[in-house]
Amino acid sequence: MTQPEEQAWDVVVVGAGGAGLRAAIEARERGARTAVICKSLFGKAHTVMAEGGIAASMGNVNEGDNWQVHFRDTMRGGKFLNDWRMAELHAREAPDRVWELETWGALFDRTADGRISQRNFGGHEYPRLAHVGDRTGLELIRTLQQKIVALQQEDFREHGDYEARLKVFQECTVTRVLKDGEGDGGRVSGVFGYERESGRFLVLRAPAVVLATGGIGKSFKVTSNSWEYTGDGHALALLAGARLTNMEFVQFHPTGMVWPPSVKGILVTESVRGDGGVLRNSDGRRFMFDYVPDVFKEKYAQSEAEGDRWYEDPDHNRRPPELLPRDEVARAINAEVKAGRGSPHGGVFLDVSTRIPAETIRRRLPSMYHQFKELADVDITAEPMEVGPTCHYVMGGVWVEPDTAQARGVTGLYAAGEVAGGMHGSNRLGGNSLSDLLVFGRRAGLHAAEHALAAAGEPPAVREDAVEAAVAEALRPFGAAEDGGAADAAGGGRGSGAGAENPYTLHQELQQTMNDLVGIIRRGGEMAEALERLGGLRDRARRAGVEGHRQFNPGWHLALDLRNMLLVSECVARAALEREESRGGHTREDHPGMDRAWRRINLLCSLAAEEDGTAPAAPASRGRIALTRFTAPPVRSDLLALFEKDELGKYLADEELSL
Ligand code: FAD
Repeated sequence: MTQPEEQAWDVVVVGAGGAGLRAAIEARERGARTAVICKSLFGKAHTVMAEGGIAASMGNVNEGDNWQVHFRDTMRGGKFLNDWRMAELHAREAPDRVWELETWGALFDRTADGRISQRNFGGHEYPRLAHVGDRTGLELIRTLQQKIVALQQEDFREHGDYEARLKVFQECTVTRVLKDGEGDGGRVSGVFGYERESGRFLVLRAPAVVLATGGIGKSFKVTSNSWEYTGDGHALALLAGARLTNMEFVQFHPTGMVWPPSVKGILVTESVRGDGGVLRNSDGRRFMFDYVPDVFKEKYAQSEAEGDRWYEDPDHNRRPPELLPRDEVARAINAEVKAGRGSPHGGVFLDVSTRIPAETIRRRLPSMYHQFKELADVDITAEPMEVGPTCHYVMGGVWVEPDTAQARGVTGLYAAGEVAGGMHGSNRLGGNSLSDLLVFGRRAGLHAAEHALAAAGEPPAVREDAVEAAVAEALRPFGAAEDGGAADAAGGGRGSGAGAENPYTLHQELQQTMNDLVGIIRRGGEMAEALERLGGLRDRARRAGVEGHRQFNPGWHLALDLRNMLLVSECVARAALEREESRGGHTREDHPGMDRAWRRINLLCSLAAEEDGTAPAAPASRGRIALTRFTAPPVRSDLLALFEKDELGKYLADEELSL
């Protein structure tokens, strides 16, 4: 049966990581009947993998900390490209969101006097990350899930139904946001998706949809991200008429595992360096002292002795350069390897064994200890780790209104967490994602609920032709290369015909292209070549074909995900080619300097032509993505006053300084 099952809700949240759960809790508490849909099992999202902690200026370990310092650090980390209003809201509200988690049952590590402990991380002036060992994300998700269950129990007492006002649909993939109008017009009216196990189609009607689908890392070959990060929410937003901002900024975390090949890219948390770990090259040199850029020179130690003293006495010493923002450390590692001073397997050495007692390592970094022991047979209490950059996080995402998290220009669409753009500018500081998703997840849920309840009397209609097009698009891989997409209605496909493309092959080629040509160090010619290749892959992806039927069919799932990965990859490549400077996560070998004239410019990606899933193939050379430039409003004067004028001169154009 291809006839989708239909249900009506007030708010649909797509994604059940930290952003999605926090949004759902808020929407339900504001009185909206809320559905949460997630692609994986409930509880399995990137948030659960987060290790180091949640950044919030509670000042528990150093009283000097406050929201203004956090705001400053975030803007510096993002090289002043951040949406300053988002950075302000985030810095102001993060402490409340952490306290709130504690009232909901989260058990954070404590200081000696019983307060929530906070640890050091790159780019943060003070110890700021509330944590639970190196398993903070697990506790965050556990707490939010527990809160969801508590709300469902409340509903059972009131309505006799646990799912009366809050229901989770797990292992369901959303493939389209539905609207009541065509093209860029119209209001959001729901979502279309399929159950991964049964292949059954689903339409959830709702006047408000919150995208909380996370990032895009699976478009790159070496990544810390898991299979879910195929850029679905980014693509869903584009297809619904929203724009994406800052897509050229992809964060390559400096420390991923490099060996053995089967685990290449898996994250080695920044807490290792925050707790005292140091980076060395094959000559044994702590090379980060050679890579402190001018903008950070005054804030970082000039000698190993000073850097080491900082761990005990941070008020009278400067921090070691191993704790520079991630983009700086990743570039430095890349340069050392390129200069022939790397480790045997193409990384550098990260050492805690000579710096921290074995017992402390096992207590403070238990996951890292087990990860290396089990996956690489390396005992990190006795020998150094080998690490290298890995694609980790996308700063770019849905262009939202800072206060409401609404996707600009699309009524009823909201985005929060990694899928939203702007907050982190050109580079995210560690720990600022968990706080971001709590702050803006709450805001998205709140405003989505308000919008939905206001629209309740006259909910936007779901258009039958849009649902039919979504069904046809979803079934196309079963009839690929045979008849251009019409598969049979009984749930089984006729199988892929001759000339059908293998989705796994296409995925591998896409990952290799992005890794090689739009990776950590970028060049104009290579990115132009990447765009050509992406065009070819897009053509071939239209013929991605699968055998079998819709009951749990991973090949089919991947064939559908390819559309999203190709769209977001084109956004990244096109914006990266356009931005002729180096800033944060975007490094151009052919434009090595940061250019103040680019500071206020945001590159916005939108869909170049109508993509209804059944349109004829566009020629390879013609892309799907159009770029426009948006000049961000100047930073509010009271926020600018938080910085020294000298420092601002490094980032702001002269006309901004004179405003
Ligand atoms: P996620 O938590 O990834 O949730 C996305 C959800 O969307 C999932 O439920 C997924 O199933 C669902 N989904 C996706 N597509 C669809 C679709 N089409 N249909 C339905 N559902 C869909 N950040 C920090 O601040 N501190 C840290 O210490 C830290 N450590 C990290 C460690 C690792 C190994 C990794 C990978 C990341 C780490 N990060 C950390 C980053 C941070 O974890 C993520 O940025 C953050 O958790 C993203 O949360 P989210 O809610 O936006 O998305």
